[in-house]
Amino acid sequence: MKAKRVLIVGTGIGGATAAITLARQGLDVHCIDIKPERPATGAGICLLHNTMRALSTIGLAEACQESGMPFAVFKEFDDSGRLLHAHPAPPSCGIRRPELARILETAAQESGAVLEKGMTVQDLTDRGEYVDVRLSDGREVSYDLVVAADGVYSGLRKRVFGTDYEPRFAGQSVWRFNAPRPAEADGFCLYRAPSGKVLGIFPTSRESCYMFYLESSREPMRITEDRSHVLIRDRLAEFEAPVIRNALDLITEPSQVIFRPLDITLVPTSWHRGRVVLLGDAAHAPTPQMTSGAGMAVEDAIVLAECFAGSDSVNEALAAYDTRRFHRVKRIYDASLQLCVNEQQDAAGRKDRSAALLLETYQYLGEPI
Ligand SMILES: Cc1cc2nc3c(=O)[nH]c(=O)nc-3n(C[C@H](O)[C@H](O)[C@H](O)COP(=O)(O)OP(=O)(O)OC[C@H]3O[C@@H](n4cnc5c(N)ncnc54)[C@H](O)[C@@H]3O)c2cc1C
Repeated sequence: MKAKRVLIVGTGIGGATAAITLARQGLDVHCIDIKPERPATGAGICLLHNTMRALSTIGLAEACQESGMPFAVFKEFDDSGRLLHAHPAPPSCGIRRPELARILETAAQESGAVLEKGMTVQDLTDRGEYVDVRLSDGREVSYDLVVAADGVYSGLRKRVFGTDYEPRFAGQSVWRFNAPRPAEADGFCLYRAPSGKVLGIFPTSRESCYMFYLESSREPMRITEDRSHVLIRDRLAEFEAPVIRNALDLITEPSQVIFRPLDITLVPTSWHRGRVVLLGDAAHAPTPQMTSGAGMAVEDAIVLAECFAGSDSVNEALAAYDTRRFHRVKRIYDASLQLCVNEQQDAAGRKDRSAALLLETYQYLGEPI
């Protein structure tokens, strides 16, 4: 039997894209998110060539390029801001996360999906041919399919798949903040200090950029959140590059700094149990080194809809989704994790091996999905 009514849990990048692709297949899409509204602030995100290709198939690449900033160069600087190298990079687009969310959610609604914020799943019973769901506002609704797109800490995954795939700490935490874009930040830029510290910058629009710093630790770090603006300045004190100093001078409030330990998970196939299927970070949350988690979520959404378009059977469509996605996602997840481990070990020769792995994985990302 073909699916007709779909519940998507999570209106993040994966959930909103699935709302677009499934609604455009003619499915009745209801997409809910526990957060009462779309976040107005947030960090930036890099949409790589494969992500832009996927967004272009649903007609949204141009909107991202207009709101964000396309780039195709990779630059390395020393801690004083001296340019060491500039190489061509895969054509990408940097964008602020709230802007990407606005573009995706608007397209989801225009495609016919119903989006409801401040809503979650209270209870869920899989009846085989359909799933009975009690929503948090008390409504009881039956769906032919439930898509768990509720992120790395997915409550639905825990409920339906058990606790085997709970995220684990990857050995690094990330500090992130936004800044006005200096002219030199016209690509993916890394500033390297002799101590081994690395600060990354990429543009998120013609006017803005995003800076990130990864810090390794054996155990997940706990910080005093109301001092995060002071803590980040301390950590980056050795960088003398004017673009970094100018940006740090503008960081005066803890709310300007986003800190989070990197927690990762990869669920082995099958990604569905009965009529509940995982998508995006709920199925696979990599470390950010390949800047690909969101790209994988967008690709998931496109492939899931293609599998439903190509089959009259829900089970067949879900099996095809597993087959088409798992190998590709695992390769990106493994490469990201290897790069993350290399950064933590920082041993001689690792940099070269990381560069080779990065290049090879970029090429793989360009292959058809
Ligand atoms: C530091 C960092 C940098 C990154 N940089 C990049 C990058 O440059 N490029 C890239 O491609 N990827 C990047 N990623 C990965 C990317 O952010 C994720 O892969 C992507 O956001 C996953 O999208 P998602 O929709 O699966 O999950 P999420 O974006 O986490 O969305 C999940 C949604 O589910 C909702 N939700 C949660 N629980 C419930 C519930 N119980 N009921 C209802 N709703 C619920 C949440 O509110 C949220 O809106 C980065 C990740 C990190 C940590």
